[in-house]
Amino acid sequence: MNKGDYIVFEDTKKFALLQITGVNDDEVYGILEKNRAYDPVNHTVSKSDIVVNLGQRPPSGNVYGCLIEPYFRSETIDWGDLHWHIRPSKEERQSVKAELAKCLKILTRHKLMSFLPISIEVRLPKGRHAGSYKCVYDEDKTDVMVIRPKEGLDLRHVVLHESGHAVWNRILKSAKGKSKWIQAYHKHVQLAEIDSKIVIRLLKDLTESQERISDFRGQQEEDDAIVLDTIIDYIADYHSLTLKDLNTLTEAGESLAPYWPKHKLEISDLVPEVTEYSVKNVEEYFCECFALHLAGKKLPKAVTLLLDKTLTSLRGK
Ligand SMILES: [Zn+2]
Repeated sequence: MNKGDYIVFEDTKKFALLQITGVNDDEVYGILEKNRAYDPVNHTVSKSDIVVNLGQRPPSGNVYGCLIEPYFRSETIDWGDLHWHIRPSKEERQSVKAELAKCLKILTRHKLMSFLPISIEVRLPKGRHAGSYKCVYDEDKTDVMVIRPKEGLDLRHVVLHESGHAVWNRILKSAKGKSKWIQAYHKHVQLAEIDSKIVIRLLKDLTESQERISDFRGQQEEDDAIVLDTIIDYIADYHSLTLKDLNTLTEAGESLAPYWPKHKLEISDLVPEVTEYSVKNVEEYFCECFALHLAGKKLPKAVTLLLDKTLTSLRGK
């Protein structure tokens, strides 16, 4: 075992990573990898607790179920500090930085930069988690955003979503501003609770109207229209029938009952513009709406109006 080696050791039944700075007869000492980029902690490990020596340049990856993300390097960008816990290829590094620059441009356009500077950590993909945001309420430290890029991941959405947490916790402070979102969230979730009733009622209304489904769709209020669009998507997914097919059937006076969903639809199906994740809690709901809106995606009209109002009130705060 040598200075500079990375070791995995057992730390109260969990595995942890440490880079060795010194060795003696029965102990090694070094720096813990966790939070190393901004909060390096020295630690001593008994040699008997060492699980494996990974050498001087271990690649990122999984070892014995422990995510090995050796701190690679830091650089300063307009966001603050960018810490790499993966060894990126040149293309990877450029594409992550380009995406971050684009996101910052969007936030700047909305004058939402007062939460900066922050630290951004680039780490390995980990299950469903594509990112996280931690507010650090300590004068000498900065907030930490973690992003976990991987192929096919919409990194812009992740960065804007995580920025949403900063906006929610750091900028949107007034009870009045937040309460509008609590009300909007409540409305959104209620929609899911009564969905099967809406689904059944809409089929009844459609049948009674004797109209083509497209014409019927055009006459609905916004909430019903969203449900109807979801049902049309559902039928396309599960029965491979297009809106044109459904128009043909309804024009001929045929019932759509055989294709209509009979079970409760998930909230994500109900409001396809706001992702499934957004129902977790009010803050996540805000962050999802915020990210989709700033990325130029379409949201239900009421949400767009609320966001515009919120963003205007926050300008320059
Ligand atoms: Zn979130």
